[in-house]
Amino acid sequence: MLNVNDLNVYYGGIHAIKNISFQIKKGEIVSLIGANGAGKTSTLHAISGLVPIKSGEISLSGENVTNIDAYKLVSRGMAHVPEGRRIFTELTVLENLEIGAFTRNDTDQIKKDMEHMFSLFPRLAERKKQLAGTMSGGEQQMLAMARALMSNPSLLLLDEPSMGLAPLLVQEIFNIIVRINKEENVTVLLVEQNANMALSIADRGYVLETGKIILEGTGKELLTNPEIKKAYLGG
Ligand code: ATP
Repeated sequence: MLNVNDLNVYYGGIHAIKNISFQIKKGEIVSLIGANGAGKTSTLHAISGLVPIKSGEISLSGENVTNIDAYKLVSRGMAHVPEGRRIFTELTVLENLEIGAFTRNDTDQIKKDMEHMFSLFPRLAERKKQLAGTMSGGEQQMLAMARALMSNPSLLLLDEPSMGLAPLLVQEIFNIIVRINKEENVTVLLVEQNANMALSIADRGYVLETGKIILEGTGKELLTNPEIKKAYLGG
């Protein structure tokens, strides 16, 4: 579904992403893990057209989408839930969801999908008219995910969904990610500092270190790899 080939990203003189290549097959959950500054967010931003690519190629469902504008990628089935959620704080839950469907004009289906989001995220259903900025961190994460799903994506990019959330909520968010993948048939690329959780739900994972992929494997292989345990899983 997604092919990333020899990707290089620079910020001025800083070489942030160095010849990264990886693939995601339809239906998979793939996790990208790594320490602060390893280049996880930069990789997602490059894929979704938010930072320019110096060299390399990205293809989505067989089509070259390298350096395509971010909003065009949404129509092609890619949705991005950014780090820090970036919901519209001054708008209601309902309005945020409506904006998520901005590329679509199938009004009846949008209404049905919105109802479906409320069944997938019951906490949002109770808060339809609430201003998004007044919701808790976990609720805002749910809203950011639901807003992304309103574009009807086949590939969902999630940047640090667990950031700043209490352990119980982290578990809830990860359960929802698995449901989105299994029940909604959405392929998932997950970037996380919480390597334990990210690898435990992943079919496969990649480990980034200073802009390079240093290891790849199934979620299980990486979870039991002694080096990964020591560096990323707390012992
Ligand atoms: P974190 O988990 O802390 O968000 P990350 O793995 O997502 O880290 P990136 O945010 O992709 O890492 O950063 C990779 C490198 O690129 C870092 O050295 C960072 O300082 C640098 N970088 C990221 N964005 C910019 C920018 N806009 N301008 C200059 N340097 C940047």
